[in-house]
Amino acid sequence: MNETVRVRFAPSPTGFLHLGGARTALFNWAFARKYGGVFVLRIEDTDLARSTEESVQVILESLRWLGLLWDEGPEVGGPYGPYFQSQRLHLYREYAERLLEKGLAYECFCTPEELKERKERVIAQGKSWRYDRRCLHLSAREREAFRREGRKPALRFRIPEGTTTFVDMLRGDVTFDNSELDDFVILKSDGMPTYNFACVVDDALMRITHVIRGDDHISNTPRQVLLYEAFGFPCPQFAHIPMILGKDRTRLSKRHGSPSVTYYRDMGYLPEAMVNYLARLSWATGEEEKEIFTREEIIERFSLEQVTKHAAIFDLDKLNWMNGVYLRAADPERLAEILIDILKRQGKVTEKDLTPEFFAYCRRVMALMRDRIRYVAQILEEAEYFFTEHYEYDPQAVESVLFEEKVPEILRTSYELLKDLEPFDAQTIEKAIRAEAERRGLKAAQFIHPLRVAVSGKKVGPGLFELLEVLGKERVLARIARTLGFLERG
Ligand code: GLU
Repeated sequence: MNETVRVRFAPSPTGFLHLGGARTALFNWAFARKYGGVFVLRIEDTDLARSTEESVQVILESLRWLGLLWDEGPEVGGPYGPYFQSQRLHLYREYAERLLEKGLAYECFCTPEELKERKERVIAQGKSWRYDRRCLHLSAREREAFRREGRKPALRFRIPEGTTTFVDMLRGDVTFDNSELDDFVILKSDGMPTYNFACVVDDALMRITHVIRGDDHISNTPRQVLLYEAFGFPCPQFAHIPMILGKDRTRLSKRHGSPSVTYYRDMGYLPEAMVNYLARLSWATGEEEKEIFTREEIIERFSLEQVTKHAAIFDLDKLNWMNGVYLRAADPERLAEILIDILKRQGKVTEKDLTPEFFAYCRRVMALMRDRIRYVAQILEEAEYFFTEHYEYDPQAVESVLFEEKVPEILRTSYELLKDLEPFDAQTIEKAIRAEAERRGLKAAQFIHPLRVAVSGKKVGPGLFELLEVLGKERVLARIARTLGFLERG
């Protein structure tokens, strides 16, 4: 490619960053990085009622978390700013007036109520509604009369006759009959631009070369192409990428696992796993066996031609599997930080708990648990005992393990044995317990099972000796004592 590739991600800040949006951003980012291009972030916030600053922040945070850093846009600036549409209203007005002057746009004084009434009438006749061009040929005097009535005009783009064709990088030629399009509003009566219009003005002024976006926009594209032609702007190339749906092929929603990027961050998924998963969702790499792609491999191998056209299906189990692969390879130090963020967010620790010892403890917990979990927060769901002394005893474990006759004696013996044991590491603990069991003519399992229930409340978990080491002597002794108390109380 000769000219510098310039792509953009253009979210509307009306909520969190959706997985579908994240994948659109990812494909744009990968495409820009692959061709040494520029990745622009533009905030499409002309819907003042629905856009919020909070949502802008969530979107920026989500992109940063995924590592999809933009070269131009909010906070970093750039030569084609501002990058918030709400700060570009003067440009939309200026460009709309150009079309008006050229006779390619016209003022429309129809009120929403009038339009609604006419539309209902047409639909009642079994026909489909398009704007009926009532205002196309108004005389200057008629326009003036409307103004005097206090009506403010919207501007409509006049759709020419014929057909409109654009090349989609996934689909080849896509042709629309212009008769399917109506004279759409470009500037509303309150002076705000509509999406199609602002998008074209911005993509042109920002020198965007490739528009990569969700295929839910495919029907907008002919309208946009006609605007490029009306302005005499060079038309970018288009790639409409498929939607991400749930397993039941409906729009992705909470039922399928959360659709929001921050949810995954907050649950302790790793951003590189998310990026890998999202990249693989509609990208047929040609190597079906290979699932794990680093960021560099994605950049190097990514190609729009390999993006499939059918909708992608979000599969939480597969994401979990993939995240597990990344967790097992991750540095426990980093996982400890993620864990601490989760503990903080869930109110399970406060600033004063965050000592170097606590950090070291979390690191040991993660080293022990990272190959048993699929996302970091799962520890709190399945092994909360690492972070509370008020863990509950699984009733079934109490019944089948703790109520064995010899258990109080075994726990008392273990307490005495472990109290003076040094160093308190898995190997030393294992040796001591096995030797003690043998001395008493018992099986090692007769110590192992009750000890596990005593310190965790559960029958299953990581290897007992490693678990005791990670919990540390103080916790282990306190928990054995607590369990003895529990058994005495019956
Ligand atoms: N703001 C639009 C959206 O979020 C952008 C679509 C586009 O990329 O043109 O759907």
